[in-house]
Amino acid sequence: MTTSHYIAGRWVEGQGSDCISVNDPALGLPFAELMAASVAQVDQAVAAAREALPAWKQTSASQRAAYLRGFAEQLGQRREALITLQMRNNGKPRHEAEIDLDDAIATFNYYADLAEQLPQKNCDVPLAAPGFTARTRLEPVGVVGLIVPWNFPLVTSAWKLAPALAAGCTVVLKPSEVTPLIEQTYGQIADTLGLPAGVLNIVNGKAETGAALSGHNGLDKLSFTGSNSVGSQVMRSASAQCRPVTLELGGKSAIVVFDDCDVEQAVEWIVAGISWNAGQMCSATSRLLVQDGIAEALLPRLQAALENLRVGNPLSEEVDMGPLTSQAQWLKVASYFATAREEGLQCLAGGKALDRDGWFVSPTLYVDVPADSRLWTEEIFGPVLCARRFATEAQAIAEANDSRFGLVATVCSADLERAERVADALDVGHVWINSVQAVFVETSWGGTKGSGIGRELGPWGLSGYLSVKHVTRCLG
Ligand code: NAD
Repeated sequence: MTTSHYIAGRWVEGQGSDCISVNDPALGLPFAELMAASVAQVDQAVAAAREALPAWKQTSASQRAAYLRGFAEQLGQRREALITLQMRNNGKPRHEAEIDLDDAIATFNYYADLAEQLPQKNCDVPLAAPGFTARTRLEPVGVVGLIVPWNFPLVTSAWKLAPALAAGCTVVLKPSEVTPLIEQTYGQIADTLGLPAGVLNIVNGKAETGAALSGHNGLDKLSFTGSNSVGSQVMRSASAQCRPVTLELGGKSAIVVFDDCDVEQAVEWIVAGISWNAGQMCSATSRLLVQDGIAEALLPRLQAALENLRVGNPLSEEVDMGPLTSQAQWLKVASYFATAREEGLQCLAGGKALDRDGWFVSPTLYVDVPADSRLWTEEIFGPVLCARRFATEAQAIAEANDSRFGLVATVCSADLERAERVADALDVGHVWINSVQAVFVETSWGGTKGSGIGRELGPWGLSGYLSVKHVTRCLG
């Protein structure tokens, strides 16, 4: 049992009714337990954030930047423990756990820099009308609730926490019940740095805790990352109170491979886009669109590359892909294998759970998948790649855009003019050309259509936690 809620600068036991098991997915066994926060504890966390807000928003930008750099440094000092915990609780291969940690560190450092630039953004506004002056002031939105999923716990929380604290907001963070230990690090760091009590609060729990937070009338904003079904509930809570909400939701992204590509390079990109984090990425490029002229050469190599991936326990083996992170996710992916069999899809690789302990599935490839198949249209959130062929550029664009989601896409072509043209025509929030899943803290993150509302990262991520105020003065 771990003490797991950080409220008003103190670690407290959960008083909720749910007991949360923290599992090692490679073994399918629990290694820790904690009690969820009660609704009353969510109230206390929001109240603590509200109480801390006036003083925190008065801190100078450079003071807040110093705290953020402290977070980055302290994450680095906990390096090995955080990598091991992500391997153990998420099932991430070591190199992916390292990338996540480095991403979180870069995020805190980046928003420290942006915090320092905030005072210069306040400026005079020239008016055409005589007799008045006007100036802008960027102010923190206030108390924000942050609800995150389990697939990139360190990173997703950093993408919200760092800009919120930089802006001068106080926060209540609710991590996923699947990975509740990782974000406790942020509370421990807050303790180490002497962050004022109540600026950062962490409450753990399942849906009940999340709903108590997202519906709380003490919040000024909610930022949510997770599934579309929960996202729409969160949006309903926000709409009941006419409160701003940022939603980072699901995806069913395309990777478009033109026939002028180097086959081996394209295979590498395709495999990475579906096997990193065992495909449990909102940005997984799970719909492969391959041009007729390269399909015959590419598909057998892709099949071999997927079959050759080393799948296993990242804590005891050198692996390319670990298990799925939860039993629920494993059952969900298995249900899509059953649907694929019912639909009679042609399976070139995988298509089954692995016959061993833990929540493992094989990297999977279905080809010539009908455009109305559930496997082509729904987010599976596992290493399941579906392929279709196309003849022309226009057809590739139309097929890629034919989705209710619009998070990301990858375009692979030796013809850079064409690649740029296709990137411009894709209705998504982020396009990679001849690269895969390259996320930089300076670029924006977020999607169009059903993939969400708002943007994280870059200056856009910070502006989500800022409110613009104008002060207009009559000179007469
Ligand atoms: P989820 O929606 O089940 O849970 C997300 C969070 O919401 C968890 O903390 C959960 O406890 C909480 N929650 C559950 N019910 C709630 C309720 N009724 N009210 C408020 N909060 C509630 O999602 P998940 O399974 O943890 O994560 C996978 C999903 O997240 C996928 O759809 C994936 O695409 C999406 N995702 C999106 C991005 C992005 O940037 N767009 C990034 C990562 C994950």
